[in-house]
Amino acid sequence: MEIEYQELILIRLGEIALKGLNRHKFETRLISNLRYRLRDLGKFKIYQDQSRMYIEKRPQDEFDFPTREILQRIKDVFGYVSASPVRRFTNDIDILFAQVKEYVDELYADGGKHSFKFETRRIDKNFPLNSYQLNCDLGKKVLNAYPEQARVDVHNPDYLFQIEIRQDIYLYHEIQPAYSGLPVGTSGTGMLLLSGGIDSPVAGFQMASRGLQLEAIYFHTFPYTGDQAKQKVIDLATRISNFSGRLPLHIVDFTEIQLELNQKVPSEMLTVVMRRMMMRIADRLAEKNNINCLITGESLGQVASQTVDALRCTNSVVDRPVFRPLIGIDKNDTIKLAREINTYDTSILPYDDCCTIFVAKHPKINPNQTDCKQAEKDLDIELLVEQGLNNIETIII
Ligand code: ATP
Ligand code: MG
Repeated sequence: MEIEYQELILIRLGEIALKGLNRHKFETRLISNLRYRLRDLGKFKIYQDQSRMYIEKRPQDEFDFPTREILQRIKDVFGYVSASPVRRFTNDIDILFAQVKEYVDELYADGGKHSFKFETRRIDKNFPLNSYQLNCDLGKKVLNAYPEQARVDVHNPDYLFQIEIRQDIYLYHEIQPAYSGLPVGTSGTGMLLLSGGIDSPVAGFQMASRGLQLEAIYFHTFPYTGDQAKQKVIDLATRISNFSGRLPLHIVDFTEIQLELNQKVPSEMLTVVMRRMMMRIADRLAEKNNINCLITGESLGQVASQTVDALRCTNSVVDRPVFRPLIGIDKNDTIKLAREINTYDTSILPYDDCCTIFVAKHPKINPNQTDCKQAEKDLDIELLVEQGLNNIETIII
């Protein structure tokens, strides 16, 4: 008998399957995000059915379905729990046995010892064997075919063969876990303050995983921070865009502002005032671009500008919510995540950012509002903010 099946990818929805009336919005967005992530591999049929989605070849297409590439790409898409490569074939008992045989033969061809278990869901109640009988019959066939290699393990099998008998039959065993979260674009938009460091890319990743669509802003202090530092931020933004999709990166020419601050602000307050200027400019750009919140990579106590008092000083100049997903996260865990999302190696390249160049030897640890007002008294804040906004280069990534 000729073995014919269609390969497709099954996606399990988590949180969004529990949504109420607006569930449709989340599903539509997830489908369009999946399409976007796969755009250069081709067009596919992507559809939703109950708490799942499927990706498959369109009937009119001739090419082989690129299962592995698709699985690799969709790892980076937020909003589902796991994915499996699946074989689908005609609902027929002989075909089922033949398909399972071929599937199992491929897996045991490596000569290794592998335990297994069958799990059948018989949604089509007209199918001649019930789930229990099928599991037993199929299990016996595997044991007979591979007496040396195969053994049943009902608790922790190497291969959990899953069979779903619907209008067609679905067969699979592999499960690729995903990052879960919510589809990007379903929670509004966020302006990520992106430096070349380890933290802010991870913060962007975290907030994108809760459904925020991102734009990024980078304050560039050329020539104190060079072209390599700028390229590093572009590279980081490119990595983040794997997860977040289209990502406008706004590069602010911050040099004159920084020099003005250096002249007019007492050195112990320089970092906090600089952070306040960044926040003001980011906030105004957010206002202009209809962005709902700001995101930073700050973590409590990490440096002098990240004490509770200093954070209050930077918060108080903006009125949009500022999300700091790393605020309570240990640096080692942030590094682990940075490695996982592939930003770490770029982040640790040794090009200075403005915060390391212009940092004071003894910054004030517990600045308050009065200190800030006092430190900013010689600055024309509005003029400096305008100056920042008027000197932005935007790159769409
Ligand atoms: P990171 O690793 O993200 O650079 P950090 O631990 O070095 O963070 P700071 O340098 O104090 O901490 O910066 C705190 C946050 O301020 C950063 O996470 C980032 O969100 C923002 N930030 C700092 N410098 C810049 C910059 N040049 N452009 C844009 N945002 C910046
Ligand atoms: Mg930094």
